[in-house]
Amino acid sequence: DLLVVGSANADLVIGVERRPGPGETVLGSDLAVHPGGKGANQAVAAARLGARAALLARVGDDGYGRLLLDSQRAAGVDTVGMLVGGAPTGVALITVDPSGDNSIVVSPGANARLTPQDVRAAASLFQASRVVSAQLEIPLETVVETVRSLAFDSRFVLNPSPAGPLPAEVLAACDPLIVNEHEARFLLGDSAGPAPEDWARALLLRGPRSVVITLGAAGALVAEGSTTSSVRVESPRVDAVDTTGAGDAFTAALAWRLSLRESLAQAAAFAARVGAAAVTRQGAQDSFPTADEVFAR
Ligand code: ADP
Repeated sequence: DLLVVGSANADLVIGVERRPGPGETVLGSDLAVHPGGKGANQAVAAARLGARAALLARVGDDGYGRLLLDSQRAAGVDTVGMLVGGAPTGVALITVDPSGDNSIVVSPGANARLTPQDVRAAASLFQASRVVSAQLEIPLETVVETVRSLAFDSRFVLNPSPAGPLPAEVLAACDPLIVNEHEARFLLGDSAGPAPEDWARALLLRGPRSVVITLGAAGALVAEGSTTSSVRVESPRVDAVDTTGAGDAFTAALAWRLSLRESLAQAAAFAARVGAAAVTRQGAQDSFPTADEVFAR
């Protein structure tokens, strides 16, 4: 089974011709409200692919919180770990431009109240999970407690998004650390070399057991601590409509395939196909494919 420890947000999405500058107002499309947040997205993406997935997250006692609970249940996610109350449900304000690129402002809300104690109280979920996946839209101390709560033989997958500093204890547990170009550059700072292969090597030196760098339309790069070389994984060529959630779909797919004991390279190759499928449709959770849809391409 797969356990996702992370955020649950309501995504408030408006399409715009272009983004407003400081002090400027632009008109956009009608508002669309979608369940989102990296944790909720990953759990839904995994369940839609056929995984047995559970979500450990916190939402507010409000309409958006109910939207999130309903959408997880509808996707078949185990919601026993979804906690309610403490603050309003997290919200993401998203603008999408005609090229499909998005800009996002997040109000963490209840996500900021997912505590290490909440993690300790979910011990039975950890015992049942072969792979545990986290992101950084929850407090860092909660991610640290997640690493400490892993069952003896379970594997930890981290997408450090939004990019932030990572304690050595968390880095050492990652197998893999999954970063996009922006997150790789943030973690490496000035020491980032010119090519993704350089970033992979440099990131491995920081302590994770393996590293996956997602490269948008160019696919991904996989590097494991036991080898010095990295492997390129192709992404199918698709017409990108909306990249929201592509990284979440990728991470969920990879985590699920790892839970089936596939190799990291195999899991990443499958994940790239899932990520590519996700950019061909609008939205985050609405865009996630079933396994049949991935294999039919
Ligand atoms: P993030 O969304 O976290 O920035 P990426 O943009 O690297 O991450 O996308 C994650 C994965 O989704 C990529 O590795 C790739 O497999 C797939 N993907 C993203 N954008 C495209 C695209 N334009 N065409 C094909 N695949 C894509």
